Amino acid sequence: MWNKMNGGETSSKPHVVVIPYVGQGHLIPFLELTKLLASQGLIVSYISTPGNVARLQPQVDHAVNSSNPGVDIRLVSLPMPPIEGLPPGIESADNIPVHMSGILMKSSYKLAGPFEQWLELQMKSAEDQIQNSPSPPVCLISDMFTSWVHKSGAKFGLPTVVFQTSGAFAMSVMHSFMKHTPHKNVEGDDEYFQVPDLPFDFQLRKSDLPFIMRDPDMNPMQSFVTEEIDRSMEGSGLIFNTFYELDSLGVDHIKRLTKRPVWSIGPILPKKIFDAEGVERATRDSRGKAADISEADCLQWLDSRNSNSVIFVCFGSQSSLNKQQTEALARGLEASQQAFIWALKRLPEIELPEGFQERTKDRGLVIWGWAPQLLILSHPSTGAFLSHCGWNSTLESISLGVPMITWPMFAEQPFNSKLLVEHLGIAVQICSNMDGVGDEHVVKREVIKLLVEEEGKMMRMRAQELRKKAKMAVEKGGTSHANLQAFREYVRERHDNWVLSRRSNEEKGKPEKNKPCTIL
Ligand code: UDP
Repeated sequence: MWNKMNGGETSSKPHVVVIPYVGQGHLIPFLELTKLLASQGLIVSYISTPGNVARLQPQVDHAVNSSNPGVDIRLVSLPMPPIEGLPPGIESADNIPVHMSGILMKSSYKLAGPFEQWLELQMKSAEDQIQNSPSPPVCLISDMFTSWVHKSGAKFGLPTVVFQTSGAFAMSVMHSFMKHTPHKNVEGDDEYFQVPDLPFDFQLRKSDLPFIMRDPDMNPMQSFVTEEIDRSMEGSGLIFNTFYELDSLGVDHIKRLTKRPVWSIGPILPKKIFDAEGVERATRDSRGKAADISEADCLQWLDSRNSNSVIFVCFGSQSSLNKQQTEALARGLEASQQAFIWALKRLPEIELPEGFQERTKDRGLVIWGWAPQLLILSHPSTGAFLSHCGWNSTLESISLGVPMITWPMFAEQPFNSKLLVEHLGIAVQICSNMDGVGDEHVVKREVIKLLVEEEGKMMRMRAQELRKKAKMAVEKGGTSHANLQAFREYVRERHDNWVLSRRSNEEKGKPEKNKPCTIL
C-alpha cells in the first residue's frame, strides 16, 4: 500500500490539520495557507464551525476545481458550543462588536472536545486502513488564539506549530509589551516610554495604545492574551504570514526568543496577485465572504478613473466608526476633492452626513458591507489605502504596492502602523484608536499628500519596491519559498516515519491497532 519514491519519500500524502480562530482576519489567511500547503502535496483538514464552513465552502470548491487534480482540502465542521454572553448562531468575530470578541476568544477552547473526537477517528481510520481514509495527521497548525490545540496535540503525540496571522515585528513588540507592561508607571498619555528587550528602538505613548491596553490592571484580556502569546511561542515552531525582507527584525528576534524553527512563508495570497494583470478574476470577490458589490460594477467604476487617483477606505472585518468619526472622515474626504471608494459597515448607528453621497457622486463610491478588497487594491486606479492596519490588509497593500494612510484601532495594529510609518516609509498615520476622532483637515491634507504630492509619489515608489521584494520572496529561490519547502520537509519526515513504522509492523504480521502514532 505504501510505496517509497526516489529520494526516500513515501508516495502517500502527509496530512496536516489547521485550526484557526473564528475571525475573518484569521479564517482568510488560514484558508490561503491551506491552499498553499495543499498545492505542495499535503492533505489539509481545515477545522471550523458550521456557519464558517458554509461561507468557506465555495472558495474551497473553487480552489480544488481550479488547481491541479489531486489537491486535497477537507473542510471539517465541528458543532459550535453555546457561548454564554453571545446570542445563539454567532460564530464569527465579524458578527459582533469588537469589545465582545474576547468572549468568543475565551470560549474557543470549548471546541477541544469535538476536535479530539474527530482526531481520534482520523487516527483510528488510518490505522485500521478504512477505505479512502487519509493518512493520520502528523502535524497540527494552531492559531495564537486557539492555544488549547497544544494540549490536544500532546495527547495524541502530535507536534503543534502555530501559524501567526500577524507580522513578526508586531508580535515581538506585543510579546515584550504584554510581559513587561512598560507603561504601568507612566503618568501622562503623551509621555514616550521605551518597550524593553527588543533588538530595535521602539518608543510608544499611552495615547498610541488601544483603549483597553492603556491600563494593564483594567485590561480584561491582559492575562488571557499574555498567556496565549507565551503558549504560541512554546509549540514546535512558528509559521509567519510575512516575508524576511519586510520583517527581518521581527523574524530574527522571534527565532532568538523561542529557539524554535520560524518559517516566514508569506505573503500568502492568491498567486496571480503578482501578475501584471493583478488578481485572478474568479477569486477577486471571494475572500472571506461574498462582496456586496458586483465585480462588474466595481471594475467599471475603477476603470473610469485615472491611474493612482483613488483612495480606498476600509477598516477590516471588525472595526467600525461611530457617528462622529464617520462625519469627520466624510468631511475630510469631501474637502480633499479626490476620488474614493469607502467600505462602510451596515450598522444602525452608521450614517453619512446629509447630502454627502449626492455631493460626491461623481467621484465617490460607497460600498455598504463587504468590499472586494483585493480587487480594489490590485486595480491601477487605486493610489492609496486608508486602513486600520490589520496585518492582512497591511500585507495586501504592500504586496500590491499601495502606500497607506493609517488609523490603527486595536490589538497589534498600532505596532503595524509604526512599522509602516517609521521603518518602511510607506505610510502616514492620521489618527489612532477606536475612540479617536480623525481631524477632517488632517484627513484632507494627507489624502492630497498621498494622491497628488511628491511625498506621496516617493511613498508609492517605496511600496512598489516592497512589492517586488514580496514577489521575489515567494518565487523559486526566494526566502519564503525556501521556508515553505523546509516546512514541507518537516511534515514529510514525520509522515515518512509513520509509514515506515506501519510497514515494519505489517511485516512483523502484528499491527499495533488503536495505538496513537508517536511523532517526535
Ligand atoms: N476584507 C475584505 N473586504 C472588506 C473588509 C475586509 O475583503 O470589506 C478582507 C481583507 O482583504 C483582509 C481581511 O478581510 O484580508 C481583514 O483582515 P485584517 O487582518 O486586515 O483585519 P481584521 O478584519 O482582522 O481587523
